[in-house]
Amino acid sequence: MIPLLLLLLAAPLRAADADADLKRDTLAHTKALVALDTSNPPGNEIIAARYIEAALRKDGITSELYTSTGTRTSLVARLKGDGSKRPLLLMCHTDVVPADPAGWKTPPFVPVEKDGYLYGRGTADVKGMCGAQMAVMSWLKRTGAPLVRDVIFFAEADEESGAPVRHIDHLLRERPDLVAAEFAINEGGNSLWKDGKIREVRVEAAEKEYMDLTLTAKGKPGHSSVPTADNALARLAGAVARLAAHEFPVALNAVTRGFLERQAETGEPAVAAAVKALLAAPAGPRRERAATALAVLAPELGAMLRDTVTPTMLKAGYKSNVIPADATATFNARLLPGREAADMIADIKRVVGDPLIEFAFEPPTRKPVGAMPVDTDLFRAAVAAAPGVRVMPYMAAWTTDSQDIRGTGTIVYGIDPPMTREDLERVHGEDERLPLAGLDWYATYLRDIVVRTAGK
Ligand SMILES: [Zn+2]
Repeated sequence: MIPLLLLLLAAPLRAADADADLKRDTLAHTKALVALDTSNPPGNEIIAARYIEAALRKDGITSELYTSTGTRTSLVARLKGDGSKRPLLLMCHTDVVPADPAGWKTPPFVPVEKDGYLYGRGTADVKGMCGAQMAVMSWLKRTGAPLVRDVIFFAEADEESGAPVRHIDHLLRERPDLVAAEFAINEGGNSLWKDGKIREVRVEAAEKEYMDLTLTAKGKPGHSSVPTADNALARLAGAVARLAAHEFPVALNAVTRGFLERQAETGEPAVAAAVKALLAAPAGPRRERAATALAVLAPELGAMLRDTVTPTMLKAGYKSNVIPADATATFNARLLPGREAADMIADIKRVVGDPLIEFAFEPPTRKPVGAMPVDTDLFRAAVAAAPGVRVMPYMAAWTTDSQDIRGTGTIVYGIDPPMTREDLERVHGEDERLPLAGLDWYATYLRDIVVRTAGK
């Protein structure tokens, strides 16, 4: 039997487009999934699971359906390897955020090809990815080439949840065997597509964790003609100012370091210079100053360097001549990967430094997960499968279910279909879309990564 990698390398020589089937299947599955309304809530992901089950069955791939409650159903399909290495998991979610047709130019649950794009709710987040993963499973099955590890496809329900107990919590508690793997590929990378070409592959390998907190000051209410020393509003204002001005220490990990090294090569000159200064500075005051300078030039890069706590809401008083009895401020914190919430909470209290301020925290419910290593077979495959393209590790300021899978010890990377910046802004918004050529490119890229990681 011909080794899978050789088969792949020979493919471009055989026909004009040896991957026509792979691309056609990817698009067909994406469109079929977009046409199924899996708005969450209520999700009703069972309709997507049934479609996928039937489609994979045509290629002789059997699936297992897992239901947590009602019609919240995930699908898992597995192609067996020889067991010499642990499995590779391909995961995507089948639910989408709701869409109000009133704001859309095309009906959100009708897939429409127009001007080089596929329009519809879920095209970008992330039914295009599900379609490509399905097509890759079928491609592997049809070629029948040997695998050194199982390749598992996991079409997950209820990712856009926000509920305290989610489908993934049920699944990982009751059936962790379904998704146990050494490596996984999920959404989250936001690779960049521009002028019909892949510009940059971002492999999401770390996520910041989300925490809300509220500060409350209380004091004696009264008439403003007689000022008091314990004015709740003034006390709170001081606390807000101290916390907002505080810079938590810079902490770089393998992912942010790798990303910044790429920015130093490719960023606009002023930003590149600031990044170089930061990377060259030893830990301590010089590095802190370099980080602050970079954050002024590029706030989104600055946010990757530290834990952040930023004020978002303020509430106090109801009348201009009345001293209020209390005042509250809400902050949103983003914790670097691996940061313990309890340590962060202690630091926040210390920075505020006022025993009369009351705190309420909503710490993350999952245990902290550090940045993924990037010295792995899967990362090397992601680089090798995109010759001539910048492939860089990336830390997201958002959270995905990758964190739950990472919590089980699996190395998870976000590698999803590329989008233009404008497409990215439409995710969760109106007229969501995905570039058709980008989806084609992604299908072959994903297949190549899988072959390099799991092929014999
Ligand atoms: Zn998503």
